Amino acid sequence: MDGGWTPTEGRHHFIGNRWIAAQSGQSIDVVDPSFGAPFAKIARGNAADIDAAVRAARNAFGEFGNGDWGRFTATERGRLLLRLSARVTAQAEELARLESRTTGKPLKQGRADAGALARYFEYYGGAADKLHGETMPYSTGMTVLTIREPHGVTGHIIPWNYPMQIFGRSVGAALAAGNACVVKPAEDACLSLLRVAELAAEVGFPDGALNIVTGYGNEAGAALAAHGGIDHISFTGSPVTGTAVAQAAAKHHCPVTLELGGKSPQIVFADANLDEVVPVVVNAIVQNAGQTCSAGSRLLAERANYEELVARVGDVMSRLKVGPALADLDVGPLIRRSQLQRVWDYLSQAQVDRIPVAAQGHVVEDAPQTGFFQAPTLLRDVPPTHKLAQEEIFGPVLAAMPFDSEDDALRIANGTLYGLVAGVWTRDGARALRVARKVRSGQVFINNYGAGGGIELPFGGVKSSGYGREKGFEALLGFTTLKTIAIRHG
Ligand code: NAD
Repeated sequence: MDGGWTPTEGRHHFIGNRWIAAQSGQSIDVVDPSFGAPFAKIARGNAADIDAAVRAARNAFGEFGNGDWGRFTATERGRLLLRLSARVTAQAEELARLESRTTGKPLKQGRADAGALARYFEYYGGAADKLHGETMPYSTGMTVLTIREPHGVTGHIIPWNYPMQIFGRSVGAALAAGNACVVKPAEDACLSLLRVAELAAEVGFPDGALNIVTGYGNEAGAALAAHGGIDHISFTGSPVTGTAVAQAAAKHHCPVTLELGGKSPQIVFADANLDEVVPVVVNAIVQNAGQTCSAGSRLLAERANYEELVARVGDVMSRLKVGPALADLDVGPLIRRSQLQRVWDYLSQAQVDRIPVAAQGHVVEDAPQTGFFQAPTLLRDVPPTHKLAQEEIFGPVLAAMPFDSEDDALRIANGTLYGLVAGVWTRDGARALRVARKVRSGQVFINNYGAGGGIELPFGGVKSSGYGREKGFEALLGFTTLKTIAIRHG
C-alpha cells in the first residue's frame, strides 16, 4: 500500500488498496460542524476517478468471478469480514472521534456507530457461508437448482448522517455476498470510511475489493450511478437524489435499492405506559440531532392522554443540552449551515401559521457561535396535513398532534408520502397487532422504537421511503442474483 493518510490530510481516493490523487487535482474542504470551520480536505472526484475505481473493482471480481477477490470462497470472505470487525473494534475510539468530528454527533453516538460497524461486519462475516440456493421439483428425469451469485461490482452512495452504519450495512453485506464495491460517501463526512478502507486492506482484502472515491454528488455520485460497469446500486439519501440515481441506473438496466427517509409516526394510545414512552419518543427525535432517516418525527397521541404526553415530552426536551460533538452532550450540531437554515425555515413557517412551540432544549452558553446548533423543539397541535407534519425536516423538531380513534390514528399515520418506520404504544395486544398490520411502513415497533437500530432486522421503506431491504439476512439476498440451472439426466 502506498502513501499515508491522516485525518487532516485525507486528500486521496482509495482505489485498488492505494491512495490515489484526484485526476482533477482539486480538493474539497471538510467542515467541522461544531465550529463551522474547515479542518481537513478530501479529493474532489470526477467521472475519470469513478472509472478507475470501477476498473479496479472489475479486475478484483474477474471476468467470471475469477479475479483475486472473486476467487475467495464464501468461508474465506466471512473470515476476512470477521477480521475486519475485530480491527474496527480495536480502532473504535479513533473511528468514533472521526465520525463525531465530521458529522457533529455527540461522542457517545460516534462510539455507538463504531460498535455498530464492527457488528455489521461480524453479522455478515458469519452469514457469508450460510447463503445458498434451493432445488425444486420439475419434470421427470431433470434436477433443477438455484445458485445465489454476486451481482459483480456494486456501487454504494452513502449519506452524511450515519456514514459508518450505512457503510456497514450495505458494503458489509455486498462483500459477504462476493461483490467488489465502489463507494461514493458524502462529501461532508467520509473520513471515517477512508480509514476503514485502509483497515480492510491491512486485514487482507485484495486490491480492488473495496474502493472509495470521494467528491460531490453531482460529479462523482452521478458518474457512479451512470457507469455501465456497475451491476447494482445501493443509495441512501433524499428522495430527489434517489430519483436521479434510479433514472441514471435505469439507462443501463442496473438494479437499485433506495432508502429515502421518512416522517415516522409514534402512535401512543391512552392506555400506554408513559414512563416507558417518554424517554424513547424524545430519543427517537433528538438522536443525531434529528438527522436520522427513521427519526420518530410525528407524535400521535390519543386525545385522552395528549396533554399529559405533550407536557412530559416537553419537560424532558426542555432539559436537553446542545453543544459541540466532542463535549458529548445530549445533542450536537446539524451537519451544515444549509441544513440549519432548512430547519429555521420550517420553524419560521410554524410561527407564521401559529403552531405553538410546547418546549425547547437549549444550546449551552460556551458553544462556539459559528457552530450549526439547533435546540430540540416540540411543536404541538400540528395539523396532520401541514408541511411540518408531512415533510422530512431532518432536524430535532417533533410535531405532536391528537387523534380520536384507532382509525383516525391510522389515517394520520398513513397520510404522508413516506412509510419507513412506525411505533405503536398500547397495553392492548390485539390492538397493537391490528395497527401494526394496517400501518404502511417497512418496520413497526410495538412498545419500543429503534431509530436506525437493529442490525439483524430487515430495514427499508414503502412509498416514497424507497424500495429494497438492507440489514439482516434479507440484505444478503439483495446483493445477489439468482441463477436457475436445469439439468436433464434421464
Ligand atoms: P442527498 O440525497 O443529496 O445526498 C446523499 C448522497 O447522494 C451523498 O453522498 C451525495 O453526495 C450523493 N448525491 C447527491 N447528488 C447526487 C447525484 N445527482 N447523483 C448521485 N449521487 C448524488 O442528500 P443531502 O443533500 O445531503 O441532504 C438533503 C436532504 O436529504 C436532507 O435534508 C434529508 O431530508 C435527506 N437525507 C436523508 C437521508 C436518509 O438517511 N434517508 C440521508 C441524508 C439526507
